[in-house]
Amino acid sequence: MRICMASAEFAPFAKTGGLGDVVAALSQNLHQLGHDARVLIPYYARIRNAGLDPQPIDNLADMHMQLGDRMVRYSILQASLPGGDMPLFLLHCPEFYGRTGIYSQEDDEFLRFVLLSRAAIEMCQRMGFAPHIMHCNDWQTALIPLYLRSTYAWDTLFADTRSVLTIHNIGYQGMFPAWVLGRLHLAGAEHHLHQDDLKEGVINFLKTGIMYADLVTTVSPTYAREILGAEYGMGLDHLLRQRGQGFVGILNGVDYNEWDPSHDELIPANYGAEDLSGKATCKRKLMQELGLRVDAGRPLIGIVSRLVGQKGLDLVRTVVPRLLLRTPFSLAVLGSGASRYEDAFAALENHFRGQVAFFRGYNEKLAHWIEAGADMFLMPSRYEPCGLNQMYSLRYGTVPIVRETGGLADSVEQIDPDTGSGTGILFRDYDEAGLEWALVTALGLYRDEDLWHKIMQNGMARDFSWQTQTARYVDLFRQLGSRQ
Ligand code: ADP
Repeated sequence: MRICMASAEFAPFAKTGGLGDVVAALSQNLHQLGHDARVLIPYYARIRNAGLDPQPIDNLADMHMQLGDRMVRYSILQASLPGGDMPLFLLHCPEFYGRTGIYSQEDDEFLRFVLLSRAAIEMCQRMGFAPHIMHCNDWQTALIPLYLRSTYAWDTLFADTRSVLTIHNIGYQGMFPAWVLGRLHLAGAEHHLHQDDLKEGVINFLKTGIMYADLVTTVSPTYAREILGAEYGMGLDHLLRQRGQGFVGILNGVDYNEWDPSHDELIPANYGAEDLSGKATCKRKLMQELGLRVDAGRPLIGIVSRLVGQKGLDLVRTVVPRLLLRTPFSLAVLGSGASRYEDAFAALENHFRGQVAFFRGYNEKLAHWIEAGADMFLMPSRYEPCGLNQMYSLRYGTVPIVRETGGLADSVEQIDPDTGSGTGILFRDYDEAGLEWALVTALGLYRDEDLWHKIMQNGMARDFSWQTQTARYVDLFRQLGSRQ
């Protein structure tokens, strides 16, 4: 199949969270299966030193696009990914993507991704590439389905193209004031936008994608069920319910080339299920590196997360200090985000020196070290579309403690101490008592060495590889094609 994917992120070059991991792994797996997958991402300033060696492409240089009263010049470069032969296409437009971060708070944020969306379509046109599937990801590229039905509807190149929108997180919808409409060039299709929103002075990019994509997917079956209801649907549940069979949940996979302790090059010692001695080394080195009191017998809990409300950190910052006063354990936190959480973890580190370590920032190597060195991994999310770290944790023999929601519920199985089955601890209610129960239970089970060992082994044997999940996407893509 011919598949064009457009995304704001692509790991490891441009990533703030799971979106980047998923697009990179899914596209490369599609490519390995023999599909012609072409991914377009912005050529952010931070990618310039990534060693991608981007090359200009004939016919895709010195292009321009009118965006309202602004004429934007851009070109598309082709890069080769290290260790693979899938081409990665980079949208070069310094005035939009030459900024420090991937996302910005500036007034033209919507335009940065309108350009990406339209450039993905125009890239296909100039390459004479007729995709069977145009795969859009999150709000940034969610206008593509409507563009295909309006501005570019004249082009028979797209006669057999079906659009798929994957929602990686419905909490980010791309809502902009209605004046942006004048910059979208929707070729008279403005009446296709949600009219009640327009009356209220708003345009919602993700909502528009849900209305016009041929298929909408999200990143786990449980999250797909949850966002059909008002509690998790963030105002879009009604539209999702209307999609019926045209809305499906597929669990994300794990890229075990990157995330497997037996060959992970970023961790201090490699190990596997048969010999866990390397894990003990990782724990010791991690504790030393972070200034924690080194004690092999004391359980170490890890957190790697964007520090935002979704991740359940309000519970952590109230429950953990209480528990630390009465139970011996250590905590290693890596993340950045809202200052209220950054400040809370910095204060916790200060108060419990040697027992709590907080590393503020984004650090790929430390994320791997924590997965390998911690005994338990904490993800008490309020909601979690899929979540990747709990699946990484399983492979690293690091027992996940998670809230039973979204992809966490689909990938972690409750421990039964009587039979030794299960892979982690799940708690249901999003409240302090729920989290406290989960932590106390985990710390209690940890004392039973044989049982704990068995649970680690159970998790390490689970397989969430992309091979299986990619096949699901391919099935859906084929079904879409045959429905024409
Ligand atoms: P989300 O997409 O909501 O952030 P996921 O669990 O799906 O959550 O994906 C998070 C990804 O980002 C994981 O690969 C995780 O290791 C990584 N990550 C998050 N925060 C950091 C950080 N501070 N440093 C390094 N990696 C991080």
